[in-house]
Amino acid sequence: MEIYLAKNAGFCFGVERALRIAHETARNAKTPIYTLGQLIHNPQVVEELRKEGITPVEHLDGLKEGILIIRSHGLPPSVIEQAKKRNFTIVDATCPFVKQAQEKACLLSKEGYQVVVLGEREHPEVRGILSVAGHNASCINNHNDIKNLMPSKKIGLVSQTTQSVEGFSRVVSELIKITREVRAFNTICTSTQMRQEAALKLARDVDCMIVVGGKNSANTKRLATLVQNRGIPAYHIETEMELNKDFFSGVSKVGITGGASTPDWMIRRVIEGVRKISSAVFTGEEIDLMKKNI
Ligand code: SF4
Repeated sequence: MEIYLAKNAGFCFGVERALRIAHETARNAKTPIYTLGQLIHNPQVVEELRKEGITPVEHLDGLKEGILIIRSHGLPPSVIEQAKKRNFTIVDATCPFVKQAQEKACLLSKEGYQVVVLGEREHPEVRGILSVAGHNASCINNHNDIKNLMPSKKIGLVSQTTQSVEGFSRVVSELIKITREVRAFNTICTSTQMRQEAALKLARDVDCMIVVGGKNSANTKRLATLVQNRGIPAYHIETEMELNKDFFSGVSKVGITGGASTPDWMIRRVIEGVRKISSAVFTGEEIDLMKKNI
């Protein structure tokens, strides 16, 4: 069996930036450091950060001052204001792509559009976007949810940064059927797009794909779903411990990719795990990550 690695896999610009900011903050901090929720959606990295003194919490109740790092998904402005009132020092690691999605939603709302966000309603990034998108903003999971929208003369559309271009285009074409005016900002981030394109390109040439990343990572889940939708078996695993020999039964080529919040060292461990479990050979094609790290 041969192992191939997707050309774009693992940490994106926004996650690398958030981690750099977090490490710097931890080096210089004199007070406790918190994040509301996990800094990035990868449990193994969050554990490493915990060792540096960065603690994820669900809310700030009961905590006295400290540093609050805003994670790459961003936060609603009202939550940031509350934290400031409680004397927390704010360190903003919101990804610029997420900020852009918030700004576009805010602009559309100010211009009188009913804002629709394509994304996962309970995802922290989407909650942040909705918080600045006006009182009548809605979230849809896909084009099938359009029938549940309130009638509106003008609809403004933005996307959670990790959605697929395919899904976004489908929503635009369906929205046109229910209203006279649609203004859409494609706020899908380029890192997400590049990872999706690389995964799909690789999936065409292999018998199965291993997608590495947090089970709570929206962009990793989407990578696996996109590949599965093309009829290629794709296994979403968090660590090499989840590899199963059965994945590779009858497989002669396996592709590996990782979500935007998946560290290189975890992808490397999975490649090693596949090698061990199946005596597979790493092909030497698309080996940017291997060259860098092994
Ligand atoms: S996936 Fe995109 S939006 Fe999310 S943190 Fe990475 S660069 Fe930013």
